[in-house]
Amino acid sequence: MTRIITYKSIKANYKSPWYIPYDVLLNTIEWREFRQKIIDRDCSKCKVCNKEQSEKTGRDYFRKPTVQEIAENSKEQLVDLLGDGTLFVKMKNAPIVGIKTDSPTILHVHHKYYILGRLPWEYKSEALVTVCHNCHVKIHDEEMIPVFVDDSFKEKIDLTPCDRCNGTGFLEQHFHVQNGICFRCNGRKFEEFIA
Ligand SMILES: [Zn+2]
Ligand SMILES: [Zn+2]
Ligand SMILES: [Zn+2]
Repeated sequence: MTRIITYKSIKANYKSPWYIPYDVLLNTIEWREFRQKIIDRDCSKCKVCNKEQSEKTGRDYFRKPTVQEIAENSKEQLVDLLGDGTLFVKMKNAPIVGIKTDSPTILHVHHKYYILGRLPWEYKSEALVTVCHNCHVKIHDEEMIPVFVDDSFKEKIDLTPCDRCNGTGFLEQHFHVQNGICFRCNGRKFEEFIA
């Protein structure tokens, strides 16, 4: 079982909040609560493409069936059970709730900007947005996420996005392992914070 911890109890182990690996961060009560608040506000959907998070059961992900798939599944069928031309109505299939998928939609919470040394949950909720992995990658491809020295937002600092995940902190092809956290930066997002 995963141990849920408070940030206070692990604080002393890191030189700055930015050195905390994402798997440790994920298990802090502070981050979990903050992240959930953002996802709830955004109705558990990607704010760019509107997709919902795929359900996870064990190692498998399931997507919601489409309207067409539901209709197809619940169609009544006539079958010639006795082989004498008498048609019987076949029992309806159980309703489908999920379809196993190899390309699940996984939601991330993206920071629109960073403030140096600040904990990931020490931001106004407007600074964060729920996005799916694919849209998250696109955002980091197209924009350089600004890192401000403090909350006067006057001075920016240049940091290098992680070589492997381009600053998203995640790698899609590894969603089965460690929640897809980037193995190079461990979710720290910038080269400068890779320990
Ligand atoms: Zn999306
Ligand atoms: Zn991001
Ligand atoms: Zn990375």
